[in-house]
Amino acid sequence: MIKTSTASTLLAIATSYLFLFITAPPPKSTYHSLFLSDSLSDNASIARHLHTLTRRPHVAGSEANAEAAAYVLSVLTSLDIPSHIASYKVALTYPLSRSLQLLPTNPPPEPPTTFALRQEIYDGDPYADVADEVLPTFHAYAKSGSASGPVVYVNYGRVEDYMTLREIGVNVSGTVVLARYGKIYRGDIVNNAYEEGAIGVVIFTDRKDYGGAGEARWFPDDKWMPPSGVQVGSVFNGVGDPTTPGWASRDDDEDECERLSKDEVEREGDIPLIPSLPVSGADGEKIMRSIGGPLAEDDWQGSKDAPAYRVGPGPAILNLTYTGEQVLAKIENVIGVIKGAEEPDRYVILGNHRDAWTFGAVDPNSGTAALLEVAQRLGELQKRGWKPRRTIILCNWDAEEYGLIGSTEWVEENREILASRAVAYLNVDCAVSGPGFHALATPQLDELIKRAAQQVKDPDNSSLSIYESWAGSGGSPLFGRLGGGGSDYAAFVQHVGIPSADFSFGGGFAGYPVYHSMYDDFIWMKKFGDPMFHRHVAAASVWGLVALWLADEEFLPFDYLSYAKELQVSAKSLEDQISNKDISLSPLFKSIKELEKAAIILNYERKAIEERKGWIARWKKEQLKVRELNDRLMMAERAFTDRDGLFGMSWYKHLIYGPSKHNDYGSQAFPGIDDAVKMAENLKTKESWHRVQHEVWRVSRAIRHASLVLMGQLT
Ligand SMILES: [Zn+2]
Repeated sequence: MIKTSTASTLLAIATSYLFLFITAPPPKSTYHSLFLSDSLSDNASIARHLHTLTRRPHVAGSEANAEAAAYVLSVLTSLDIPSHIASYKVALTYPLSRSLQLLPTNPPPEPPTTFALRQEIYDGDPYADVADEVLPTFHAYAKSGSASGPVVYVNYGRVEDYMTLREIGVNVSGTVVLARYGKIYRGDIVNNAYEEGAIGVVIFTDRKDYGGAGEARWFPDDKWMPPSGVQVGSVFNGVGDPTTPGWASRDDDEDECERLSKDEVEREGDIPLIPSLPVSGADGEKIMRSIGGPLAEDDWQGSKDAPAYRVGPGPAILNLTYTGEQVLAKIENVIGVIKGAEEPDRYVILGNHRDAWTFGAVDPNSGTAALLEVAQRLGELQKRGWKPRRTIILCNWDAEEYGLIGSTEWVEENREILASRAVAYLNVDCAVSGPGFHALATPQLDELIKRAAQQVKDPDNSSLSIYESWAGSGGSPLFGRLGGGGSDYAAFVQHVGIPSADFSFGGGFAGYPVYHSMYDDFIWMKKFGDPMFHRHVAAASVWGLVALWLADEEFLPFDYLSYAKELQVSAKSLEDQISNKDISLSPLFKSIKELEKAAIILNYERKAIEERKGWIARWKKEQLKVRELNDRLMMAERAFTDRDGLFGMSWYKHLIYGPSKHNDYGSQAFPGIDDAVKMAENLKTKESWHRVQHEVWRVSRAIRHASLVLMGQLT
């Protein structure tokens, strides 16, 4: 007995030593589960970060925003994440003076109304002492000048709204138009007005869309926009610093950087050529009361107790003056780098912007707080021995609000290296404005994002996963695409062709009516956006988990079958749209078939390598095969970009996802084809339809290039 027991003890000791000897670090999946665990999640620290970041208004170029940058840098550094600031000098504009007067001409003559153009603080407003640091309401890059003319109400200022006006015989030429916010990008509202011959633009926040439909309750008692609340924002239609289109605005002491002159910038066509001003809902209604002419149709009307909306023109005269100053301001992107252990030259990039029009509790610092939460959890994983396979880069952008400037300058400066090394870009702008998860993505990421959403509980219903709530009763979740210029993903996907995604909770103006007003503060977030900060925790979980999988999985978790399927759907809807025209879509359908085939073959190859795995996988040769296959997966998205870019918008290289000409918020597939169709429907000429066919060919060729990259074979 003794003998046996000694023997077994010896055996036990021997095996435990052996075990120690061959024991590998815990598998990556252990760290991934840890990343999601309650022990690493911290809603209280997210709230603290948000509170600190939003203490003062911090528009791009301000001292307060430099302070916020220093804060982000210090948090990252304290987590042992090597970080630095990438700064640029860029052209920003600030308001110098504004005035708006309404001159009624109805008899008996009434005195002119001069608008105060001021957002009001409320009793007990904890930010009252810093309220005067909020910039006067304005449009960034608005044209300086005056405009005086009869008012015309143009609904949301879309192309189709002007068509409606033409049908009832209203001409906007020489008038000042009154538009309401909500359906298209404000820069397009101004540009569409200019193209119709208007001389000035006033845009108001209609109670119908932002005011709770006239329930007479607003912030701080309810989430709705107060009557004096104004949505400010940029009216620049381009991307990046307008004075350095396509290249980086270097921050040199001697300013050794080529820049366009003011005239050259105007000739580029992306900044407005007529002045504009944003106004409050209350001011909008006051102007509306002075407009005569035909009654606007039902869906042009306001909330239930609003005055009747008429289209004009006039008889009242609107007198608008705006003077802005353009300055060369220093902006700062904070960049933190967690170096990959095995493939340091492959980048998984997470980004969020920091600059805000006012306090920015939702837009964008809910995202910044989530970024810092991701960083904190990654820092914790590092302490416990985790090292990512690939490099993870955390970016906190500046001057997004002016025109995606910080991210765009950085991408333009690092374009070649990003084009050869970036695996994916994951953006979060407004992380949280309410309940409900939303994702936008290039389609090879769909499956990965669904998988992550299955792992994280819905913060508003713990019996369901985010995936289950997101999928709803339909059973399959809805992805948005990345066609619009809505946030910092634009340069990554639309200029360079990097697979990208964007996550948020909430969404839609109805859920977040104080958007870009001075009421987007910590109090609003605490009362209405995310009282317990659990949505922030969930946003950080999904964002970080997707990043971890992209950084750690041996094979890049990209699925090009989803891409082919999505393209097929877009091509079908295009077919329905132009079925009666003499356009052949067969090259497009054929190229999509080829992409599908290439994706299937690649999946087989991946399986074959996996089956040969085990000890053999340690052989260098097999590792090179994994790398080669991953490179094909990484580079396939680049193939959707085209040297010449979209017609008339050559910075936008991506032919599948990009903005359409008259609506930068739009995110349809094939923007080049879409614009060509719109033009052809307008011009109705043989040549214009021929251009549609040409655009179809271009897209088909890009898709074919992507299949060749996936196949990894020369023709
Ligand atoms: Zn934003």
